[in-house]
Amino acid sequence: MLSEFLTNNPEYLRAFQEIAKQAEVIDIENRWPREQLQCLTEAGISALGIPETYGGRVPVNQEMETVYLDCTSACLTTSFVLSQRNAAIQRIVACSNESLKQSVLPDLASGKTFATVGISHLSSSGQHLEKPLVTAHETDQGFVLTGMVPWITGAIHADLLVTGATLEDGKQILLAMETDLEGIELGTPINMLSLTASATGNMHLNEVFIPKENLVAGPTENIMKSGGGGTGSLTTSLIATGVARRAILALAQEAEHREDLQTECEQLIAELTDLLKDLETAQTNSCEEKNLTPQNMRARSNSLVLRASQAYLTAAKGRGFVHGHLAERTVREAMFFLVWSCPQTVAQAALREFACPPAWV
Ligand SMILES: Cc1cc2nc3c(=O)[nH]c(=O)nc-3n(C[C@H](O)[C@H](O)[C@H](O)COP(=O)(O)OP(=O)(O)OC[C@H]3O[C@@H](n4cnc5c(N)ncnc54)[C@H](O)[C@@H]3O)c2cc1C
Repeated sequence: MLSEFLTNNPEYLRAFQEIAKQAEVIDIENRWPREQLQCLTEAGISALGIPETYGGRVPVNQEMETVYLDCTSACLTTSFVLSQRNAAIQRIVACSNESLKQSVLPDLASGKTFATVGISHLSSSGQHLEKPLVTAHETDQGFVLTGMVPWITGAIHADLLVTGATLEDGKQILLAMETDLEGIELGTPINMLSLTASATGNMHLNEVFIPKENLVAGPTENIMKSGGGGTGSLTTSLIATGVARRAILALAQEAEHREDLQTECEQLIAELTDLLKDLETAQTNSCEEKNLTPQNMRARSNSLVLRASQAYLTAAKGRGFVHGHLAERTVREAMFFLVWSCPQTVAQAALREFACPPAWV
């Protein structure tokens, strides 16, 4: 299990090895992972999850899950950008707008175009505010959107964006749109604790007209509860576990020649093994009764990635604290899961864990 990658597909393996080589420089230079995304396309990963009719391929035998785990171990920036692209595609694939699917999915499957998603304002961002962050007014031909989408990864590199808005009656819509329409202003990508290379920023919409032909879903209430892949989905847990796995793998390498690390390293390996098994079960079954709900899986993945990355930093000592060391990057990347697509129950579980003194105090 503790080989560098889980896949036995030679093309995927080649792609992940190539991607891993550039992960450090991408992070240090805050550089958009263009070549890494090209590697994924060449390996056939861009086509995964898109039906064959539109030039894609249906994943088999946990293929998508293995891709997320391996790609994250290689480079979190790349797998995170892939996940935001796939979130946009998943919404389009699930919709009933056949002409939209025919016009956008083939180019997305071949990697010719890139899509992303800006939907957090419908589920997690700004939920305490009185007014929705993006409002829409319906006309005969479409919708006019005004407001601010707070988070969009890779917007400045995207040909297509899936976003949403709230209508006057409180119902919500999801739309696919080009990013160069009149009235759109894309914010400069922001500097962050990690993942600055993901070119994440906001988007201002000033009375932007989107035709009805671009409707992906709605109008309906609580639109994020339909179409799958919402906040804290199992994909987000796989990505968090991919970073945890990378940390534990690196710790195990240190532990090979240091007896003082072995007991704790074995404990973390055992926890990771259980988590991977449960994530696999949770993907294939309805697991409410076994406590393998998406929220529980995400709380466990978050807890493990935070502890494993700090265990690795502790083992790597001062050298691991230096900018550019794998431990330093992994600790910064682990923090991302506290804020990204993190349901309230998972955030609450983290707060409880932080507020408790360790058992030996
Ligand atoms: C690197 C990165 C990339 C991301 N990429 C995407 C993407 O591509 N697409 C996408 O849709 N989303 C994306 N997100 C958004 C992410 O999934 C979460 O929605 C986001 O991190 C939530 O944080 P927020 O600051 O927007 O939350 P908010 O809830 O809006 O919190 C903002 C501030 O409001 C205050 N506040 C919060 N709750 C309350 C309350 N109950 N009462 C009073 N004050 C409160 C706090 O001071 C807080 O700092 C990304 C996030 C990050 C960090």
